[in-house]
Amino acid sequence: MSHVLAKSQNNEILEAGECGGAVTSILKYLLDEELVDGVLALSPQDDVYDAFPVFITASDDLLKTAGSYHCAPTMIGDLVQKYFTGKKVAFTVKPCDMRAVEELITRHKIDKDNIYMIGLNCGGTVSPVSGREMIDLFYEADPDDVVSEEIDKGQFIIELADGSEESVKIHDLEEKGYGRRNNCQRCDVKIPRKANIACGNWGAEDGWTFIEINDEKGQELIDGAKKAGILDTKSPSDAAVEGRSKVENIMIKMAKKNQDANYPLVSEMDEWSRCISCYACRDVCPICWCFENCELNKPYFKDESNIPPVPIAFQGVRLSHMSFSCVDCGQCDDVCPMDIPVSLIFDKLQKKYFARTGYVAGVSDDIKPPLYSPEKTEL
Ligand code: FAD
Repeated sequence: MSHVLAKSQNNEILEAGECGGAVTSILKYLLDEELVDGVLALSPQDDVYDAFPVFITASDDLLKTAGSYHCAPTMIGDLVQKYFTGKKVAFTVKPCDMRAVEELITRHKIDKDNIYMIGLNCGGTVSPVSGREMIDLFYEADPDDVVSEEIDKGQFIIELADGSEESVKIHDLEEKGYGRRNNCQRCDVKIPRKANIACGNWGAEDGWTFIEINDEKGQELIDGAKKAGILDTKSPSDAAVEGRSKVENIMIKMAKKNQDANYPLVSEMDEWSRCISCYACRDVCPICWCFENCELNKPYFKDESNIPPVPIAFQGVRLSHMSFSCVDCGQCDDVCPMDIPVSLIFDKLQKKYFARTGYVAGVSDDIKPPLYSPEKTEL
């Protein structure tokens, strides 16, 4: 593993990029050199509280995707699995996206040889709904007047239409139940080290992106983009590397504190008793891949005389099939109509599984999850 600071050599990308525009430049290099069929990235929509996935095949269209969208709820892994089988594709991943992709690679649902994973370090995301509410409550601003947002040095910063900026400490927002999603607050994987490269602002100088190069493919990306004249690089100072590592460790400590505080508060059986078996958690889960063969589609779960099915039966099947693989992305919390903290329960069980086996979903190399098959079945 090695580190570089990188900066785009294209002024428009440099201007539009979150840090040094390195990610957008590398994606441009991949498209221009025809190393991929396309790039999956996010594009902002009507307001700053969302961003949609877009599949880009011409590098001129990449500019609109540059930047960091902290309120975007999109998960990348299941999109790659569902829509890009057989295609060579590059995409950006937060750590939970990377973990989902890795789980799907283990199950032969994504072919590692066909993908470039460009990692983004992640301190956490904010849900669009709570994002709008917190602007209203803490910033004395109209949520519709916000033209951009960023997270920097522990503050959630907004820029308003009149050019003014306001910031509030994330810690203060979280004390009042706002700020980052609950799952992000307890997430202890902050740097996506299974991605080919992991990019971020920790340890970066202004106008540069700090890149951790995780494997040979990652090194080829940096070398190729430099050779193509789209990227400049230099070495970070030792102090920058050390400072980044310190911040990562502090974030992990905070996450573990959050886990210790919250795992004991949740009782699976009490929470499951509210489950109405609507299938929303299963449908949104990036790890679920059985689709039409899913056990939960069997007639005994669909029998109308049995509606709603005993909640523990429905959730028991989900737990036994994939709690060991939960990447704590929080999507299930977003869609649960009964406000069950689904991801907290699954994450708590994943950690129990970790305590017994050492398996960290989407991170461990040497230990394989149950249901692992070394045989590659049809993709
Ligand atoms: P750009 O050239 O601006 O390209 C960024 C690429 O990321 C674009 O392709 C864009 O579509 C894609 N993207 C934007 N938002 C998302 C998203 N939500 N999910 C998937 N892809 C997305 N770095 C740190 O060091 N510490 C942090 O705590 C940290 N937190 C982050 C939290 C979030 C939610 C995100 C998205 C990024 C975070 N980063 C963090 C990474 C940092 O903000 C920059 O993305 C990174 O330094 C790359 O900068 P760049 O200028 O090279 O990227």
